[in-house]
Amino acid sequence: MTTPVPTPQRDRSTTALKFVYDFAEGGRELVDLLGGKGAGLAEMGRLGLPVPPGFTITTEACRHYLRVGTAPAELAAEIDVHLAVLERTAGRGLGQPDDPLLVSVRSGARFSMPGMMETVLDIGLNDQSVQGLAAQVGNERFALDSYRRLIQMFGRTVLGIDNDRFASLLAAATKRPDAELPVGELRELVAAFKQVIRAATGREFPQDPREQLDMAIRAVFDSWHTERAALYRRREGISDDLGTAVNVMAMVFGNKGAESGTGVAFTRDPGSGQRGLYGDYLPDAQGEDVVSGSRNAFPISELERLDPVSYRQLLHNAGILERHYRDLCDIEFTIERGKLWMLQTRVGKRTPAAAFRIACQLVDEGVIDLDEALSRVSGHDLTQLMFPQFSVDSDAARLTTGINASPGAAVGAVVFDSATAVRRAESGEAVILVRHETTPDDLAGIVAAVGVLTTHGGKTAHAAVVARGMGKPCVCGAEELVIDEDGPRLIAGATVIEEGGQISIDGTSGAVFEGRIPLQQPPIVDYFNGVLDPDGPDTSDLIRAVHRLLQHADERRRLGVLANADTPEDAARARRYGAQGIGLCRTEHMFLGERRALVERLVLADTVPERTAALAALLPLQRGDFIGVFEAMDGLPVTIRLLDPPLHEFLSDDAEVTARISAAKAAGLAPDDRDVKLLAALDRLHEVNPMMGLRGVRLGFVVPGLFALQTRAVAEAAIEARRRGHVVRPEIMVPLVATVTEFEITRRELAAVIAQVAKESGADLAIRIGTMIELPRAALTAGSIGASADFFSFGTNDLTQTTWGLSRDDVEGAFFPAYFKARVFDASPFETIDRAGVGRLIRIAVDEGTRANPLLTVGVCGEHGGDPDSIHFFDEVGLDYVSCSPFRVPVARLEAGRSAVQRAGIVRANETR
Ligand code: PEP
Ligand code: MG
Repeated sequence: MTTPVPTPQRDRSTTALKFVYDFAEGGRELVDLLGGKGAGLAEMGRLGLPVPPGFTITTEACRHYLRVGTAPAELAAEIDVHLAVLERTAGRGLGQPDDPLLVSVRSGARFSMPGMMETVLDIGLNDQSVQGLAAQVGNERFALDSYRRLIQMFGRTVLGIDNDRFASLLAAATKRPDAELPVGELRELVAAFKQVIRAATGREFPQDPREQLDMAIRAVFDSWHTERAALYRRREGISDDLGTAVNVMAMVFGNKGAESGTGVAFTRDPGSGQRGLYGDYLPDAQGEDVVSGSRNAFPISELERLDPVSYRQLLHNAGILERHYRDLCDIEFTIERGKLWMLQTRVGKRTPAAAFRIACQLVDEGVIDLDEALSRVSGHDLTQLMFPQFSVDSDAARLTTGINASPGAAVGAVVFDSATAVRRAESGEAVILVRHETTPDDLAGIVAAVGVLTTHGGKTAHAAVVARGMGKPCVCGAEELVIDEDGPRLIAGATVIEEGGQISIDGTSGAVFEGRIPLQQPPIVDYFNGVLDPDGPDTSDLIRAVHRLLQHADERRRLGVLANADTPEDAARARRYGAQGIGLCRTEHMFLGERRALVERLVLADTVPERTAALAALLPLQRGDFIGVFEAMDGLPVTIRLLDPPLHEFLSDDAEVTARISAAKAAGLAPDDRDVKLLAALDRLHEVNPMMGLRGVRLGFVVPGLFALQTRAVAEAAIEARRRGHVVRPEIMVPLVATVTEFEITRRELAAVIAQVAKESGADLAIRIGTMIELPRAALTAGSIGASADFFSFGTNDLTQTTWGLSRDDVEGAFFPAYFKARVFDASPFETIDRAGVGRLIRIAVDEGTRANPLLTVGVCGEHGGDPDSIHFFDEVGLDYVSCSPFRVPVARLEAGRSAVQRAGIVRANETR
């Protein structure tokens, strides 16, 4: 994560650090200090929306606490001041015996971490103030229930007592929903809960409201370091150093009867992008009941029927927020006896399809321009849209249809708990986590699963929010399904699925099927393949939106996007997907299969005529390969890389040759002469560390004629393709160069062959010759290499391997999981460019290479060329192009456009400063 830790703010009237902000003092510009929730509350207050009074303790205070182990010395006094203001505004004191002010204490980090940290509600209740509350609201049952909730939440969250100890008492008290517990039983439950605390801690439940508050604040700070929060941050790439803010807010109650309630809403449908309020509402409930999915909520439209006045107000407020944030917002609200309170807002998460649709809708509504629309979607979104979907004509048995909570298709084995999900996934099995509802403790299981299915909860339940954030298919609220914990097994009418049984879930439609359903390409792939006209009358708005934003990205981007493709078919696909040429055509596959025998002949050749004959046999085959690629890329550049891998990869298997020789000997026969020579060659070529051995440019020095053959094949193929009417722009690239001398010797050899072919054919032949930069030494001596080369192509796979000293084929399984856990890095350096190390080498090479040779073209052809984050880096350091696999070409186009727009924004911001 690149987000820096924010600078502490000082109180202007003194020089002291300021750790507490009243909601009325903050705003979204202070989001780093106030966290997302605190900034959103302050912003709503500024907009005149009804927010309960309160204050935010900054992330800086949390960081101090986490660093030092105690809160900053000034914090208590600052809280005193802000609490006094809050009490004045509310007209009553915290925990005041006859009419208590109650507060909620909630976490709120800079980046949303739904449900990962702690919340304590109803702070301020004690044995006396519970009576005052009962008298004030004229409802003893309500007051006792609130007290019971506080003791339970406090016990679990602040004192670390296992929630089961409370939950089992609650369950024993009644079989009915807890809202119906009579007063007498509630009073007994409160006493029993207090006894649990006494037994577990040796202390009474604290009666001093201020002590409750201070303990709750510390518990929220501490919850930054819970295992699930750490796992979530690792997964989302959020820095461990940021800390959380703490929001202390006057309680409002959604559980004061039928005219009260609580809900979560989006200002438009986060799935389709359609405008209008969208979400869940639960009458007579507190917010936690909706988010946990423990009670099934009504669609928000129900509120219009139950309380039309509040509904209209909410709709009005949603409009204000959308106009203010110029984006889809999500909102948490509570209605207390007919009075609407706004408890949270932020720019809402959305599905990848909705991201594209909403961005274009906002352009059409005149809210944002196309540049901003481009910054609202991402390559990750586009990748998600390209994932396969279920084939529509499958005859698999549909078990039920639940709520389509997070789109995409998933097929896997049913598991009923997170630990099993993790265990089975680690052994390579695709699993679907099936739960009544998920809680933050299920995070590891959700991460491990390919999809999530719950029988309770709606689109705003925990499972849905987390799965959407991770781009994982999720079906929620599949109420017809029964989880039999004793099996464990899943029961759907007459169908019973044991743990490990296969199901398929469709998060786009909500359908759940028994068995495995085959997957098929989504329509977006038809669009990329040119089969689906983006302007056709029946084309979906999603495809129109993708097309529109990709076109805009193409207009904006500076970076070229090329493809890595070795065959005419791949080249043609890359071109359809928008590639502007081939940045890497690997030639090794052209020496495999039946051609292996010819390579063996070349390696085993003892005499010049033998070698010449072997090369002559390879020439027409290789020439044919290149003609096909040139034809597919008519008019566009094609960069062909000379043979790179260690030679032994093309020879017969050592064990087989040895076995043949032994068998012959055992039969008393002389072994085949060729086998004997082959074994000797295998022995000679054997390397302990082949990735650092005889490969790349080095091959040209020990296998005479090999590179000349390849160069001749390229040159002759170019002439032939041109003769067939194509415009051909060949380039040849030398792999694994470490010194300018290697490159110059090789370049001279290639140039001579090209000149020779030009002379023989009478054609005018211009072939640019460049080198890959994939060794640190090449990067560090790029000035001299650049002076001799026409282009550089950064081979960041090898450059990462050699810079880090990590074997790219071995390490990912060996110790990367431990490194992720310890946060040595958040993303594999083989996937996302390591800016500080490998990136630094790239900067040096670009600077020194282009200074020595201003005409030098610079690009990248390692895997990083298709990685969204890395593409922004390559744009920043001034590469001319990225080259990636054909399937990632659209993603690279989009990200290159986004990078250009963002960079222009940075430049504009700097200019106006
Ligand atoms: C590279 O090293 O980044 C590269 C593109 O070459 P290869 O992956 O074939 O070694
Ligand atoms: Mg390489």
